[in-house]
Amino acid sequence: MGLTFAPGEVERLGLFLAMLLDENTRQNLTAIRSEEDAWERHIFDAMTMVSVLADLPEGSKIIDVGTGGGVPGLPLACVLPKLEFTLLDATAKKTTFLARAGAALGLSNVSVVTGRAETIGAMGSPHRRAYDAVIARAVGRLAVLSELAVPLAKVGGLCVLVKGARADEELDEAKKALHLLHAAHAGTVETPTGRIVVLEKLRETPKSYPRRDGEPKRAPLGVEKGKA
Ligand code: SAH
Repeated sequence: MGLTFAPGEVERLGLFLAMLLDENTRQNLTAIRSEEDAWERHIFDAMTMVSVLADLPEGSKIIDVGTGGGVPGLPLACVLPKLEFTLLDATAKKTTFLARAGAALGLSNVSVVTGRAETIGAMGSPHRRAYDAVIARAVGRLAVLSELAVPLAKVGGLCVLVKGARADEELDEAKKALHLLHAAHAGTVETPTGRIVVLEKLRETPKSYPRRDGEPKRAPLGVEKGKA
Protein backbone atom coordinates (compact mmCIF):
# COMPACT_ATOMS: atom_id res chain seq x y z
CA MET A 1 0.00 0.00 0.00
CA GLY A 2 3.05 2.26 -0.07
CA LEU A 3 2.87 3.07 3.64
CA THR A 4 5.96 3.89 5.63
CA PHE A 5 6.08 3.50 9.39
CA ALA A 6 7.85 5.65 11.95
CA PRO A 7 10.23 3.88 14.35
CA GLY A 8 8.29 1.90 16.95
CA GLU A 9 4.94 1.92 15.14
CA VAL A 10 5.08 -1.66 13.85
CA GLU A 11 6.16 -2.84 17.32
CA ARG A 12 3.18 -1.00 18.80
CA LEU A 13 0.82 -2.70 16.33
CA GLY A 14 2.32 -6.04 17.35
CA LEU A 15 1.87 -5.27 21.04
CA PHE A 16 -1.79 -4.37 20.41
CA LEU A 17 -2.35 -7.69 18.62
CA ALA A 18 -0.64 -9.59 21.45
CA MET A 19 -2.95 -7.90 23.97
CA LEU A 20 -6.01 -8.52 21.78
CA LEU A 21 -5.27 -12.24 21.33
CA ASP A 22 -4.50 -12.59 25.04
CA GLU A 23 -7.74 -10.82 26.08
CA ASN A 24 -9.58 -13.01 23.58
CA THR A 25 -8.95 -15.99 25.86
CA ARG A 26 -11.10 -14.20 28.50
CA GLN A 27 -13.78 -12.52 26.38
CA ASN A 28 -14.85 -13.01 22.80
CA LEU A 29 -13.38 -10.09 20.84
CA THR A 30 -12.48 -11.78 17.57
CA ALA A 31 -13.02 -15.10 15.83
CA ILE A 32 -9.43 -14.89 14.61
CA ARG A 33 -7.06 -16.92 16.72
CA SER A 34 -3.80 -17.09 14.75
CA GLU A 35 -1.24 -14.29 14.76
CA GLU A 36 -0.77 -14.46 11.01
CA ASP A 37 -4.50 -14.10 10.29
CA ALA A 38 -4.76 -11.33 12.90
CA TRP A 39 -2.05 -9.28 11.15
CA GLU A 40 -4.00 -9.52 7.92
CA ARG A 41 -7.59 -9.20 9.11
CA HIS A 42 -7.04 -6.62 11.85
CA ILE A 43 -3.87 -4.65 11.08
CA PHE A 44 -3.63 -4.80 7.28
CA ASP A 45 -7.40 -4.25 6.91
CA ALA A 46 -7.25 -1.19 9.21
CA MET A 47 -4.24 0.18 7.29
CA THR A 48 -6.32 0.27 4.08
CA MET A 49 -8.06 3.32 5.62
CA VAL A 50 -4.87 5.34 6.09
CA SER A 51 -4.91 6.84 2.60
CA VAL A 52 -8.43 8.24 3.15
CA LEU A 53 -7.68 9.65 6.64
CA ALA A 54 -4.10 10.85 6.15
CA ASP A 55 -5.23 14.08 4.46
CA LEU A 56 -7.19 15.27 7.50
CA PRO A 57 -5.61 18.25 9.24
CA GLU A 58 -3.65 17.78 12.46
CA GLY A 59 -5.92 17.51 15.51
CA SER A 60 -8.91 16.21 13.53
CA LYS A 61 -11.32 14.14 15.59
CA ILE A 62 -12.23 10.59 14.55
CA ILE A 63 -14.73 8.24 16.22
CA ASP A 64 -14.76 4.47 15.69
CA VAL A 65 -18.37 3.32 16.15
CA GLY A 66 -18.74 -0.27 17.43
CA THR A 67 -14.99 -0.66 17.81
CA GLY A 68 -15.26 -4.07 19.59
CA GLY A 69 -11.67 -5.18 20.18
CA GLY A 70 -10.45 -1.83 18.84
CA VAL A 71 -10.47 -2.32 15.08
CA PRO A 72 -10.00 -0.23 13.04
CA GLY A 73 -9.57 2.72 15.44
CA LEU A 74 -6.74 1.53 17.66
CA PRO A 75 -4.30 0.39 14.93
CA LEU A 76 -5.03 3.63 13.07
CA ALA A 77 -4.26 5.66 16.21
CA CYS A 78 -0.85 3.92 16.35
CA VAL A 79 0.13 5.15 12.87
CA LEU A 80 -1.75 8.48 12.71
CA PRO A 81 -0.53 10.17 15.91
CA LYS A 82 -1.66 13.63 14.80
CA LEU A 83 -5.33 12.63 14.73
CA GLU A 84 -7.47 12.24 17.89
CA PHE A 85 -9.34 8.93 18.14
CA THR A 86 -12.42 8.09 20.21
CA LEU A 87 -13.27 4.38 20.47
CA LEU A 88 -16.98 3.76 21.08
CA ASP A 89 -18.61 0.49 22.06
CA ALA A 90 -21.80 -0.44 23.88
CA THR A 91 -20.10 -3.19 25.90
CA ALA A 92 -18.25 -2.00 29.01
CA LYS A 93 -16.13 -5.14 29.18
CA LYS A 94 -14.71 -4.29 25.76
CA THR A 95 -14.08 -0.62 26.49
CA THR A 96 -12.35 -1.56 29.76
CA PHE A 97 -9.91 -3.67 27.76
CA LEU A 98 -9.43 -0.85 25.21
CA ALA A 99 -8.62 1.71 27.90
CA ARG A 100 -6.01 -0.68 29.32
CA ALA A 101 -4.54 -1.35 25.84
CA GLY A 102 -4.37 2.37 24.98
CA ALA A 103 -2.53 3.09 28.23
CA ALA A 104 -0.13 0.14 27.81
CA LEU A 105 0.76 1.35 24.31
CA GLY A 106 1.28 4.89 25.57
CA LEU A 107 -1.23 6.31 23.10
CA SER A 108 -2.11 9.87 24.09
CA ASN A 109 -4.42 10.30 21.09
CA VAL A 110 -6.97 7.66 22.15
CA SER A 111 -10.01 8.03 24.39
CA VAL A 112 -12.64 5.43 25.07
CA VAL A 113 -16.40 5.88 25.44
CA THR A 114 -18.91 3.25 26.60
CA GLY A 115 -22.39 3.69 25.16
CA ARG A 116 -24.71 3.11 22.28
CA ALA A 117 -24.31 5.21 19.15
CA GLU A 118 -28.04 6.01 19.26
CA THR A 119 -27.57 7.65 22.69
CA ILE A 120 -24.28 9.42 22.16
CA GLY A 121 -25.45 10.75 18.78
CA ALA A 122 -28.74 12.12 20.11
CA MET A 123 -29.65 15.81 20.43
CA GLY A 124 -27.97 17.35 23.48
CA SER A 125 -25.04 14.92 23.53
CA PRO A 126 -21.59 16.55 23.26
CA HIS A 127 -20.64 13.85 20.73
CA ARG A 128 -23.32 14.81 18.22
CA ARG A 129 -21.88 16.73 15.25
CA ALA A 130 -18.46 16.62 16.93
CA TYR A 131 -16.29 14.50 14.60
CA ASP A 132 -14.39 15.24 11.40
CA ALA A 133 -14.65 11.57 10.47
CA VAL A 134 -16.70 8.63 11.70
CA ILE A 135 -15.20 5.23 10.99
CA ALA A 136 -16.61 1.72 11.42
CA ARG A 137 -16.11 -1.89 10.44
CA ALA A 138 -18.57 -4.76 10.77
CA VAL A 139 -21.36 -2.80 12.48
CA GLY A 140 -24.27 -3.62 10.21
CA ARG A 141 -25.29 -2.75 6.71
CA LEU A 142 -25.25 0.83 5.44
CA ALA A 143 -29.00 1.47 5.91
CA VAL A 144 -28.47 0.76 9.63
CA LEU A 145 -24.93 2.04 10.11
CA SER A 146 -25.54 5.40 8.43
CA GLU A 147 -28.17 6.31 11.07
CA LEU A 148 -25.64 5.50 13.82
CA ALA A 149 -22.70 7.23 12.15
CA VAL A 150 -23.93 10.37 10.34
CA PRO A 151 -25.29 12.23 13.43
CA LEU A 152 -21.81 12.08 15.02
CA ALA A 153 -20.11 13.79 12.04
CA LYS A 154 -19.68 17.54 11.68
CA VAL A 155 -21.45 19.14 8.72
CA GLY A 156 -18.98 18.61 5.86
CA GLY A 157 -17.43 15.70 7.76
CA LEU A 158 -17.04 12.16 6.48
CA CYS A 159 -18.11 8.64 7.34
CA VAL A 160 -15.40 6.21 6.24
CA LEU A 161 -16.88 2.72 6.40
CA VAL A 162 -15.18 -0.61 5.75
CA LYS A 163 -17.34 -2.73 3.48
CA GLY A 164 -16.91 -5.84 1.38
CA ALA A 165 -18.15 -7.10 -1.94
CA ARG A 166 -21.74 -6.03 -1.21
CA ALA A 167 -20.92 -2.32 -0.90
CA ASP A 168 -22.96 -1.33 -3.98
CA GLU A 169 -25.96 -3.41 -2.95
CA GLU A 170 -25.88 -1.85 0.52
CA LEU A 171 -25.55 1.65 -0.93
CA ASP A 172 -28.55 1.04 -3.10
CA GLU A 173 -30.58 -0.10 -0.10
CA ALA A 174 -29.39 2.93 1.92
CA LYS A 175 -30.35 5.55 -0.68
CA LYS A 176 -33.43 6.75 1.17
CA ALA A 177 -31.66 6.64 4.56
CA LEU A 178 -28.86 8.87 3.25
CA HIS A 179 -31.42 11.32 1.88
CA LEU A 180 -33.29 11.44 5.22
CA LEU A 181 -30.03 11.89 7.15
CA HIS A 182 -28.79 14.66 4.81
CA ALA A 183 -25.75 12.66 3.72
CA ALA A 184 -24.47 11.60 0.31
CA HIS A 185 -22.23 8.90 -1.13
CA ALA A 186 -18.93 10.69 -1.80
CA GLY A 187 -17.05 7.74 -3.27
CA THR A 188 -15.94 4.14 -2.90
CA VAL A 189 -12.28 3.19 -2.62
CA GLU A 190 -11.19 -0.29 -3.72
CA THR A 191 -8.60 -1.72 -1.35
CA PRO A 192 -6.59 -4.96 -1.25
CA THR A 193 -9.05 -6.34 1.34
CA GLY A 194 -12.41 -4.96 0.19
CA ARG A 195 -14.08 -1.60 -0.27
CA ILE A 196 -14.26 1.57 1.74
CA VAL A 197 -17.44 3.57 1.34
CA VAL A 198 -17.12 7.30 2.01
CA LEU A 199 -20.20 9.34 2.90
CA GLU A 200 -20.30 13.10 3.33
CA LYS A 201 -22.62 14.87 5.73
CA LEU A 202 -24.17 17.67 3.71
CA ARG A 203 -26.34 19.42 6.30
CA GLU A 204 -27.32 19.05 9.95
CA THR A 205 -29.03 15.73 10.73
CA PRO A 206 -32.78 16.17 11.44
CA LYS A 207 -33.26 16.09 15.22
CA SER A 208 -35.37 12.93 15.15
CA TYR A 209 -32.29 10.88 14.17
CA PRO A 210 -30.84 8.65 15.43
CA ARG A 211 -34.05 7.00 16.66
CA ARG A 212 -34.10 5.29 20.06
CA ASP A 213 -31.76 2.41 21.00
CA GLY A 214 -32.18 -0.63 18.81
CA GLU A 215 -34.58 1.01 16.36
CA PRO A 216 -32.06 1.57 13.50
CA LYS A 217 -31.34 -2.16 13.41
CA ARG A 218 -34.93 -3.29 14.01
CA ALA A 219 -36.41 -1.13 11.27
CA PRO A 220 -33.64 0.24 8.99
CA LEU A 221 -34.43 3.73 7.66
CA GLY A 222 -36.09 3.78 4.29
CA VAL A 223 -36.19 0.00 3.95
CA GLU A 224 -39.63 -1.46 3.34
CA LYS A 225 -40.88 -3.86 6.01
CA GLY A 226 -40.14 -7.44 5.12
CA LYS A 227 -36.97 -6.58 3.28
CA ALA A 228 -35.08 -5.88 6.52
N1 SAH B 1 -15.33 -3.02 14.65
C1 SAH B 1 -14.92 -4.29 15.25
C2 SAH B 1 -16.05 -5.02 15.98
C3 SAH B 1 -17.22 -5.40 15.14
S1 SAH B 1 -18.45 -6.31 16.08
C4 SAH B 1 -14.27 -5.16 14.20
O1 SAH B 1 -14.40 -4.87 13.03
O2 SAH B 1 -13.62 -6.13 14.56
C5 SAH B 1 -19.66 -5.03 16.38
C6 SAH B 1 -19.41 -4.23 17.65
O3 SAH B 1 -20.28 -3.12 17.63
C7 SAH B 1 -19.69 -4.99 18.94
O4 SAH B 1 -18.56 -4.86 19.78
C8 SAH B 1 -20.92 -4.30 19.54
O5 SAH B 1 -20.86 -4.21 20.95
C9 SAH B 1 -20.84 -2.92 18.90
N2 SAH B 1 -22.13 -2.27 18.66
C10 SAH B 1 -23.19 -2.77 17.96
N3 SAH B 1 -24.19 -1.87 17.90
C11 SAH B 1 -23.77 -0.77 18.58
C12 SAH B 1 -24.37 0.48 18.87
N4 SAH B 1 -25.60 0.77 18.46
N5 SAH B 1 -23.65 1.37 19.58
C13 SAH B 1 -22.40 1.08 20.01
N6 SAH B 1 -21.78 -0.10 19.76
C14 SAH B 1 -22.45 -1.02 19.06
